[in-house]
Amino acid sequence: MSIVLLEHPRPRTPDRYESVVNTPLSSCLMTGYVASTLKSNNYDIDIVDANLYEWSFNETIQELKKRNFKLLGVHLVYLWENTASVFEMLMDLRRSVPDAHINLYGHFPTFAYKELLANYPFVDSVTIGEPETTFLELSDAVTNNKNTSALYTINGLALNSINSKVEEDVSKSNVILNKPRKPVSNLDNIPFPYRNDFELTKKKGISTFILASRGCYGKCTFCYLDNFYGEESSWRGRSPENVFNEIYDIYEEFDERYFYFADANFFGPGKKGKERACELANLIMDKGLNIKFGIECRANDIEDKTIGILVRAGLKDVFLGVESGSQRSLNKFRKFTTVEDNKKAINILRRYGIEPNYGFIMFEPDSTLADVRENYEFLKEMKMLNSPSITAHLLHHKQTVFKGTRDYEKNIGAVGPDSVVMYERPCEFKDKAVEALSENINTFCLKILKDLSLNRNFKSEERDSCVYDEDDTFSKQKNEQLIEHFEQTLCSYE
Ligand code: SF4
Repeated sequence: MSIVLLEHPRPRTPDRYESVVNTPLSSCLMTGYVASTLKSNNYDIDIVDANLYEWSFNETIQELKKRNFKLLGVHLVYLWENTASVFEMLMDLRRSVPDAHINLYGHFPTFAYKELLANYPFVDSVTIGEPETTFLELSDAVTNNKNTSALYTINGLALNSINSKVEEDVSKSNVILNKPRKPVSNLDNIPFPYRNDFELTKKKGISTFILASRGCYGKCTFCYLDNFYGEESSWRGRSPENVFNEIYDIYEEFDERYFYFADANFFGPGKKGKERACELANLIMDKGLNIKFGIECRANDIEDKTIGILVRAGLKDVFLGVESGSQRSLNKFRKFTTVEDNKKAINILRRYGIEPNYGFIMFEPDSTLADVRENYEFLKEMKMLNSPSITAHLLHHKQTVFKGTRDYEKNIGAVGPDSVVMYERPCEFKDKAVEALSENINTFCLKILKDLSLNRNFKSEERDSCVYDEDDTFSKQKNEQLIEHFEQTLCSYE
């Protein structure tokens, strides 16, 4: 086995337990795509999925040490304050495999490659952006023992030219970025992603994800999804037939009946984007596939006709990026949607029996108390505060400022001590009253979420707090407490 792909452990931290933005959903198939690309080019690979098996860092090192490899590809995920543990693990591993090439890929290393390579010189390279072709060329160079100079010809690769293999030599790092890699123009040419241990994935209740498109035609200031694919990026969709064939294969082989589209934005731009979605829905219906599925999308793409067809084909769940109930905030985010678009989208989905999950930012660095009030009134008017876990999330969520976003580049917020590799800036509020309000609400909501979690554990239920609330007295009480507390605290600041 000359190549190993690693999904490292992802321990949750108490403070960030409820945060969901440490890695975009669209990255969930990244290792699967790298694996299928390598396999289709006859490389013998092994996937070490410590995340799926819930291994500790120590267990993961032991597993890695059992393997004999020349190239280790690590799908690096930002783990808040636990991020350093991944590098401690890799440093330890490096002592056992001094000659192996260690490469990082994923969203986090794409945006933080300079800092990562400079701070951790035992890492040999970083794949920038879409990984398949770059990693394939790297595999060819490493497994065939090509000269180091061959690495400098691989587009989309960043390297530490003085690879010291020891962490003390930070001062000697010299980061080189090769020419950019162009995003794959026809996604149908990439083989379907390899699905590691499908049975266990299902047993653990993890959805079967499908990535039907890449990128996003939106350019929201808080989001780096499209920037990940480089400057020449635009929304790219696989053909409906290609997507259908992947779903059909899984449907037949594993008897799977539920799929979740991990696309950042399920709909492509404009009329064509919706027509493509309808084509896929028609294929599903024409071929008689009895499935249900979920999607993530923008409010302005929700329209009656398209949703009607998708629902008939099995659409059941929608994650809707409404982001705000304040027009000023939507404008500031460059969302190019209106509060009315948000309301209309929610109402259309509800007419089809779908209660969406929401992307919502209650507090952002520029928020005024008036914005927060508008957000709150919007949530009440649209009857979005019915279940305590959802209420808690909607009421306390504040913007996370990640590298790669326009907001990070605008230097909103200072780099704090926990920003290990300058990947995240704290959300610094301009208005001190909003800052105090946000802190108060954050503490209260996290406490309620903890109560809910304890109550759930008490009942031996293991479900995600985002989707679970019993319609019982305890839940109702907690929901009322959240709303009452928010209302009173906001009023006191106003
Ligand atoms: S619409 Fe969604 S995926 Fe697209 S840029 Fe905005 S937040 Fe990101």
